[in-house]
Amino acid sequence: MTSKDTRPSSASTEQALRAIEARLNKIQEIAHLGSWELDNHTGQLVWSDEVYRILGLIPQEITATYEAFLDSVHPEDRDSVNSAYLDSIQENKDSYEIEHRVVRKHTGELRYVHEKCEHVRDASGKIIRSQGMVQDITEHTLTNDSLKQRTLQVEKLANEQRFILSSMPIGVAFLKNRNIQVSNPAFDKMMGYIAGETLGMNSADLYPDSETYERVGNAAYEAIFNGGIHTVESMMKKKDGSLIWCNIVGQAVNAEKPEDGSIWMIQNITDRKLAEQMLLEYNRQLKEARKLAESASHAKSEFLARMSHELRTPMNAIIGFTQLLEDNPVHPLSEDQRDSLHEISTASGHLLELINEVLDLSRIESGRLLLSLEPLEPGDLCRECLSLLIPLAAKCGITMAVNVPPGFWIYADRLRLRQVLLNLISNGIKYNHTGGTVEVGCNVQSESSVRIWVRDTGPGIAPEFLPRLFQPFERAVAVDGLIEGTGIGLVLAKRLTEAMGGTIGFETSLGSGSLFWIELPQAESMEEMEETAASLGAPPPLPGERQVLYIEDNPANMRLVKKIISGLSGVTLLMAESAEAGLELVKACRPHLVLMDINLPGMDGFEALDRLRGNPETCNIPVVAVTASAMPDQVERIKKAGFDDCLTKPINLQRFVAVVDALLEKPVPEDTND
Ligand code: ADP
Repeated sequence: MTSKDTRPSSASTEQALRAIEARLNKIQEIAHLGSWELDNHTGQLVWSDEVYRILGLIPQEITATYEAFLDSVHPEDRDSVNSAYLDSIQENKDSYEIEHRVVRKHTGELRYVHEKCEHVRDASGKIIRSQGMVQDITEHTLTNDSLKQRTLQVEKLANEQRFILSSMPIGVAFLKNRNIQVSNPAFDKMMGYIAGETLGMNSADLYPDSETYERVGNAAYEAIFNGGIHTVESMMKKKDGSLIWCNIVGQAVNAEKPEDGSIWMIQNITDRKLAEQMLLEYNRQLKEARKLAESASHAKSEFLARMSHELRTPMNAIIGFTQLLEDNPVHPLSEDQRDSLHEISTASGHLLELINEVLDLSRIESGRLLLSLEPLEPGDLCRECLSLLIPLAAKCGITMAVNVPPGFWIYADRLRLRQVLLNLISNGIKYNHTGGTVEVGCNVQSESSVRIWVRDTGPGIAPEFLPRLFQPFERAVAVDGLIEGTGIGLVLAKRLTEAMGGTIGFETSLGSGSLFWIELPQAESMEEMEETAASLGAPPPLPGERQVLYIEDNPANMRLVKKIISGLSGVTLLMAESAEAGLELVKACRPHLVLMDINLPGMDGFEALDRLRGNPETCNIPVVAVTASAMPDQVERIKKAGFDDCLTKPINLQRFVAVVDALLEKPVPEDTND
């Protein structure tokens, strides 16, 4: 009987097995999941194709062994992989799992794998077979890692931002719908709340009243949602109701989407505002005080001017009549009467000197001292002072010498310099020993200054007195009551020297004498000025003959102007040394232009101008002020007085010629009376 053998033939079975194996391989490839099996009895290890792929090995090149596997493991993970396997055997574990890295042999590529191993044991517990799975989890691990990294970064950033926000010294708040969503501690603290307490509050609650909120808050919202940053200063209300001044800077997150909210930075500027208010108040008070001081100083000057007149008139009478009595040949006086009169005469002379000095001092202090700074050579002036002091020097037994050769030129007010020198020289005589000397000298101190000094052979000045040396009414104990003096001379000398743009100083040595000096600005010599004048060249001649009258008491200035005018063709110069003489000349000659020095002996330039303007015959003659004073009130006074122009000393030659030329070019004024 033939029976049909239904069993599959061995060939087809093998085929079917290979197909299953191939499908299994494919599945393993898709899942990146390889499998292995170790026969502990034979020691044979079998890897699926996917294990080879994961380890980056080629089946034809290498036989599957535990060593070959360990070779593929990343060197840093090898120990832990090996221990996991050995430990599981030693500790009789049925299975274990481990994740580690492998390095692909040919490419060096790094892969992450997850391994699971199971031991199959016989009844006695001996391992007969170990089998396992290797899964390539590289993509998963890397994704996880980068995710972790990203999360960490975001967290770090958020922490940093939180830190910045909380440590910022100015208040920051994020608002949505005008409600506070986020605020930093500085904001909460500034507004008097505890941290976080402002969350949810409406911005209107932070303003003092609804009027302010509408005016400031609404305007700010409108501005930020129109785009840009808005800054405003406003009062804000703290939790306890107190008010503070804040500087508020706001910006929309997105100007087109108000619902995205806005950021506000708020700074407490109360201190600054208070300081500003105090400053305003201070300035106001200062202005008032200045006004008061000005009127007080004006009143003081008025008072002093009056007092001076009132005191001087009787003083002159006392001195004059004393002299008349002393020199009366008709009724000669007894010795006793003569002595008494002499006392009166000395005391009143002293008093007059004191009055004059105090007056000068207060004039300087109120800025009303009129100075006429002119280029001058100090030699003659020094000699003049010495000759004035001969009687005093003779009385004290002092020899005087002066060594000031010509050629030194300074800018100074002749009268005031004389006053300073007289004081210094008389001190040198007074505070000296009988038989001592006083020497006056001069030297160029620097490119821009000349020093005039007075050296004496007196006792010198005690160190303890030095700090009080230039203080009013201070006199050394050693001299007070013994040597005549007021204690004002040196202060006056200092103020006068400084008013002339100079400095004063001294050197002293106990027992050997003192040297007092003043330094004054150096001036161009007359020759140098004349040279400059000549180098200017003459302007075109003016039509007809013109006469210029220069009223001036300083010889150096007269010489200079004479030189300049001589260079102008068709112009002749008349000169007068006082306003009185000048007015006479104007009447007699009717010049085309008057150059008027302001600080003149007797009548001053202002009064002379008034006289000219007040006379219909002379009122149209142009008058130019020539002044050495740079004091603002005097310049202002000149402007107001009605001078046609003003020239300041030292004379600027170009400007001088331009002014004279312009005024002489004007048509000759018609006499109003003719
Ligand atoms: P007065 O001479 O009228 O007292 P000053 O102001 O000129 O006033 O001088 C003030 C004081 O300085 C003098 O009283 C004197 O003590 C001291 N003093 C000034 N010049 C000299 C000098 N050359 N030698 C010594 N002492 C001087």
